[in-house]
Amino acid sequence: MAENNEKKTNEKEKSPTPIEAYLELPAFLVMVSSSVEVYHKETMGYLLGIKGENKFSVRYAIPFQTVERGLTHATIDMDRVGRINEILRELSAGLELIGDFHSHTQFGDSPATVIPSNADLMSSMPGKLNIICAVNQKRRKSKWQESARKNIIGSVGDYHIEIGGYYVAEAGFNEKYQRVIIKCSAITGLEEK
Ligand SMILES: [Zn+2]
Repeated sequence: MAENNEKKTNEKEKSPTPIEAYLELPAFLVMVSSSVEVYHKETMGYLLGIKGENKFSVRYAIPFQTVERGLTHATIDMDRVGRINEILRELSAGLELIGDFHSHTQFGDSPATVIPSNADLMSSMPGKLNIICAVNQKRRKSKWQESARKNIIGSVGDYHIEIGGYYVAEAGFNEKYQRVIIKCSAITGLEEK
């Protein structure tokens, strides 16, 4: 009897295809400088670039100017998002709105992390790139590098920065998200062989 040995090859555990985001230098610089500028408050903004299959190329990060900045959250009026989208449709010359970014900052003794909060997950745009830029007081100088946790880390001025990304496939509140591998060779240098 021809026992089927290739059992359930299609049902092998769903380890999703890795998603990568490549930050170009202008996007990186704006995310870091706007996050540091308003520290201890938080900033947020949108990301322009190109989305490929399981891959985002991030050309620009544009901070919202009217974010309501709290110490533990940042929010924006959805009408403004609509207006921005309209402008982008006309002017973005092939670039798309591919996602958004916001910062997390140290709060007292609790260090900022790149882990999305429940509120973040609830408001994430499905199918888009979500980047978190965590800013903490620097303990020591650190060169810019890719961390073992798929993030970009480094120090600048008095701050330690970590940039991480995540992706949610579906809208609404769910705790399922996928980590995105962040790369920025412009700042970390070419990958070592
Ligand atoms: Zn957040």
